[in-house]
Amino acid sequence: MPNTLYTGDLPDSFDAGDAVAIDTEAMGLRFGRDRLCLVQISTGDGSASFVQIRREQSKAPNLQKILENRSILKIFHFARFDVALLYQTFGVLASPVYCTKIASKIARTYTNQHGLSALVAELLNLEISKEKQSSDWGLGELSEDQLQYAANDVLYLHRIRSLLDRMLEREGRADLAASCFEFLPTRAKLDIGGWPEDIFAH
Ligand code: MN
Repeated sequence: MPNTLYTGDLPDSFDAGDAVAIDTEAMGLRFGRDRLCLVQISTGDGSASFVQIRREQSKAPNLQKILENRSILKIFHFARFDVALLYQTFGVLASPVYCTKIASKIARTYTNQHGLSALVAELLNLEISKEKQSSDWGLGELSEDQLQYAANDVLYLHRIRSLLDRMLEREGRADLAASCFEFLPTRAKLDIGGWPEDIFAH
């Protein structure tokens, strides 16, 4: 299925199903300074939709509806960053969320490799490149290479999620993971509010 590029928002007709994979690309990693440039979404059908976000844009009604819809699960890899950036940009807190990085940290305690490419390699036997991770996502016209990289960040998340869920179940760690996912939007909100890294520290 071909990938589709949209400007500003998803179309009214976009059917999110009950679980979407979402990733974002920004000018950098610092909240307040760095803006959201691109949102990638996949419904798990092997294709990705891209939404290019303009500078100073603060609304994307169709995208916001998905983020807020309690019956659509939002799957991220390192949700903490994406959820915070989306909250900073549109003022909506994505929920419910699933984070493949946190799921991996709780399930795969035999390794410290929890990056997306490591998960894709071990669980799906595929190789994806993280080479375009640092590039100018603010460009008016993104390159084919950038879009291919951006698509890779969402195309495999549904499959990774179901494999990690199987491991979490098997090891009796599913409840612990679910509790972490539940807290995640709040963790993102604390980041945007400038609260300390570990609010639970003494
Ligand atoms: Mn990405």
